[in-house]
Amino acid sequence: MPQYDEIHNWRCSMVMCLRFCICFLLPLIALPTNAAVLRALIIDGQNNHKCWPQTTQIMKRHLEDTEMFSVDIATHAPQGEDPSFQPTFSDYDVVVSNFGHGATLWPMATRTRFENYVRSGGGLVIVHAADNSFPSWEAYNRMIGLGGWGGRNETSGPYVYFNNDGKLVRDTTAGRGGSHGPQHEFAIIVRDAAHPITNGMPARWMHTKDELYDSLRGPAENMKILATAFSSKTKRHEPMIMTIDVGKGRVFHTPMGHETYSMECIGFISTLQRGTEWAATGTVTIPIPDDFPNASQSHSHSLQP
Ligand SMILES: [Zn+2]
Repeated sequence: MPQYDEIHNWRCSMVMCLRFCICFLLPLIALPTNAAVLRALIIDGQNNHKCWPQTTQIMKRHLEDTEMFSVDIATHAPQGEDPSFQPTFSDYDVVVSNFGHGATLWPMATRTRFENYVRSGGGLVIVHAADNSFPSWEAYNRMIGLGGWGGRNETSGPYVYFNNDGKLVRDTTAGRGGSHGPQHEFAIIVRDAAHPITNGMPARWMHTKDELYDSLRGPAENMKILATAFSSKTKRHEPMIMTIDVGKGRVFHTPMGHETYSMECIGFISTLQRGTEWAATGTVTIPIPDDFPNASQSHSHSLQP
């Protein structure tokens, strides 16, 4: 028969062992699988789309849903120049712009820091009306590749699109940059299925009701068009998913995303998540979801509570 002291010591050892497991081993097991967090910054504050405070929150949620991004927001003053708008871009892997048409130019020091951030390897995401912003800012126009409105015309660069023969056209014809017809659902056609952002997407998929931007123009240097949509207005296949290399920086640009319901499209969500990961890292690990829209039917997740 063991003595009382032996049993007591044995019980103490077991209790200590259990405590060790609970304190040190369980937390390791409970760690999320996507423990590597990419730091994203959404910038906003001036946008002709009145829904911008909602669309910022929607994009934040889309990125956080991947469990891959931590997302901060930096908001510019609603009108005029804002000397206090000085985000530390270099703290982030990727910056997502939710600025829009008519936004006031940022302070010079902020613009210079932003240019340096992208050129030295920072990621940038341009969504919808962010390609309307800052028509007079030359370096910004090179970052977005193509833009619209704000007096953009043939001096901004060519129209760039695919013709009906599937050929890429750089059209220097004189004319304004930026237009769209009435909102509707439209098909996205993947033009480069080998790129990490579009790899695995259906060759054609239906996008939820949105504005189909057409006639964008800009420097379009080091730009790849990964997907297009046919505009019945221009009879051209207009760019819908683009990448632009700027120095060591990567830019992902989509003119989709006019309204909150446009951002409920699972195709938009997946494109935003994968494009943002690519801009941040140069690779894509986020899978295409099973409920991705197909060639004939759009598919949305309602974001209403
Ligand atoms: Zn719009």
